[in-house]
Amino acid sequence: MTLENLSLIDVARPAARRSRQARVVWGARVVTIGGDAPVRVQSMTNTDTVDVIGTAIQVKELALAGSELVRITVNTPEAAQAVPHVRDQLDRMGIDVPLVGDFHYNGHRLLTEYPACAEALSKYRINPGNVGKGDKRDRQFGQMIEVAMRYNKVVRIGVNWGSLDQELLASMMDENARSADPWDAQQVMYQALVSSALQSAQAAQDLGMSPEQIILSCKVSGVQDLISVYRGLAARCDYPLHLGLTEAGMGTKGTVASATALSILLQEGIGDTIRVSLTPQPGEARTQEVVVALEILQALGLRTFVPSVTACPGCGRTTSTTFQELAKQIDDFLRAQMPIWRNQYPGVETMKVAVMGCIVNGPGESKHADIGISLPGTGEAPAAPVFIDGEKALTLRGERIAEEFQQLVQTYIERRFGGASETGQA
Ligand code: SF4
Repeated sequence: MTLENLSLIDVARPAARRSRQARVVWGARVVTIGGDAPVRVQSMTNTDTVDVIGTAIQVKELALAGSELVRITVNTPEAAQAVPHVRDQLDRMGIDVPLVGDFHYNGHRLLTEYPACAEALSKYRINPGNVGKGDKRDRQFGQMIEVAMRYNKVVRIGVNWGSLDQELLASMMDENARSADPWDAQQVMYQALVSSALQSAQAAQDLGMSPEQIILSCKVSGVQDLISVYRGLAARCDYPLHLGLTEAGMGTKGTVASATALSILLQEGIGDTIRVSLTPQPGEARTQEVVVALEILQALGLRTFVPSVTACPGCGRTTSTTFQELAKQIDDFLRAQMPIWRNQYPGVETMKVAVMGCIVNGPGESKHADIGISLPGTGEAPAAPVFIDGEKALTLRGERIAEEFQQLVQTYIERRFGGASETGQA
């Protein structure tokens, strides 16, 4: 077969996003969302916000893991009073990540009665389904928008499947029932979610808010539902979109469901900031949701955060766990160092490391990496060739292969990325 007989294969890449751009600001730190900005990663604490130190520590952990915005619960007067203290504590720790306040039911009162809280937050999350009922709804929503305008804050109008505005849903259901050709209930639900977000955004603009201060989300917990709703939302507006599968679940299920839904939409150019709503497993760090979000963006080629480790799955040719342990050790080492390396070694996040289990694919994959090691499979000589920049550099032997390879990685990073340091990564 010759190339002449073949047609070109399209190179897959994410479609361009076409949203406006919002600026979330704290001090000198500006996080742009939408437009040509990178897709941003956000997360949310699960501490009681009244616990100022505990909350500040978790925000710091999430920020150091790579979260560019961190949302905290603001549900009571005590929590609202604690917010500026959390902010102060973070500033003292040198953590300038913008804080987002999560409001439901009483946000209009808390933002009005606690101006220090309103000022310390960089963005407010408003759930149109939880701002009030009947004639209170518009007034209370308006109060929150007015505070946001007074302090020049961005708002996320965040509709959620579980707290959808029931009055809006009921009126759309009634209208649908009267139609000569009614839609099914699922379609009406989709329309209600999107309409709730868009109507609230229009109401905010009618009150004088700039469209550049508005971000939208319509979160649901089903993968196909999320894809449908966000396609509909993106087709009907150009606000930046916050993307996330709500109540994604735990562990593998939550990770896979989030990655599946978010990847499909991001590939279509839908989504300007993401949050992975993982339920932490007992003993699991809250930062796991950030790790998953970073991996989704990195896997799609949208952003690069940490050096990637290519490791084979192992098979009958690997009867020891040595290569699994080495792959994990290297991966942990790279992640742990990134908060320091990010400024010390600009570009290190693009590095590729390979840890392979035997001679079948080991040398080939290791040559494609910046630095790679091919461990001996069962029956092979007890030697591990190391490849650097595509060339075999040396062979490791003995009990300390893991430590020695880790040192080689460190030396490689210092040599290749240890030029002038930079700060102020977006
Ligand atoms: S590189 Fe070797 S050990 Fe790893 S999966 Fe392939 S054949 Fe198995």
